[in-house]
Amino acid sequence: MSENELVGRLVAAGWKGSRDVALGPGDDAAVLRGGLVASTDMTVEGVHFRFDWVSAREVGFRAAAAALSDMAAMGARPVALLVSMALPGDPAVGVELQRGVRQAGDRVGVAVVGGDASRSPGPVVLDVAVLGRAAQVVLRSGAAPGHDLWVSGVLGGAAAAVAAWSAGARPPPAARERFVAPPNRVPLGRALAGEGLARSMIDLSDGLLADAHRIAAASGARVVVREEAVPVDPAVFDAKVPGASASGQASDGHLNLALTGGEDYELMFTSATGAADRVRALARELSVPVTRVGTVEPGAGVFLESGGERREVTGKIGHDHFATP
Ligand SMILES: [Mg+2]
Repeated sequence: MSENELVGRLVAAGWKGSRDVALGPGDDAAVLRGGLVASTDMTVEGVHFRFDWVSAREVGFRAAAAALSDMAAMGARPVALLVSMALPGDPAVGVELQRGVRQAGDRVGVAVVGGDASRSPGPVVLDVAVLGRAAQVVLRSGAAPGHDLWVSGVLGGAAAAVAAWSAGARPPPAARERFVAPPNRVPLGRALAGEGLARSMIDLSDGLLADAHRIAAASGARVVVREEAVPVDPAVFDAKVPGASASGQASDGHLNLALTGGEDYELMFTSATGAADRVRALARELSVPVTRVGTVEPGAGVFLESGGERREVTGKIGHDHFATP
């Protein structure tokens, strides 16, 4: 069973509609009537991180930054965090996790207002729930033919760190930093939503291509990504990547990390034709690089375009915790 199938079954088992809810499961966050936005994000030792890679404080920071990223993707202003954790032993680990969460909260001016703690017979589990407010949310379903496709920042750095660790190597410092400290894109997401520039939006948690599929599916449109335009994180070139050259050129291995590596927590959004100058001006104001990486067309699916050639992206792409090999 794929992660998407499992989530679909969980939604079917748990969700039956409610008059209090403006937007139920299926986007980066749910929206309640009155403009409250809510989402939750779980991190599991041995699945998302290992303690021989990162410290407990870094785990907490990263988990909260990832949760806050979903608020950015909705164009919402985060207002509170709730933290639940299961710990196998040393309570000091929990305190360090919590300190990391608070640091990420401090970065956006949001307090930790509650949570829960339990003993774990297995790995450390950390769940961060985030509440936000938005007058106008941006959904995954708003992409329309003619839109430009954009991403913020650079991609592949976090995946390069994981690839290095998994190969028993030490990741380049810049790649490690991308893994432990996802960027704060809340100001960009809010500004894009507030100015009506982003018509659809998602945060890149499972890789550009996998998340492009979500935009395409939710919008009933085709997303075309121009391979040459994808902003590969310079940190990727310093990492030892299978199939990568040492020349600093974007080889298939490097590009693959930028296209399918997860956990960059950058924003991907679409905007109407003619809005490109305003998008660039707003991004410059906020000192966040943005890159136009493709377009939206009538149809379905995700296509990669390179050197005038176009191929459909199918099969296993991006990160899937429940994929059977
Ligand atoms: Mg998300």
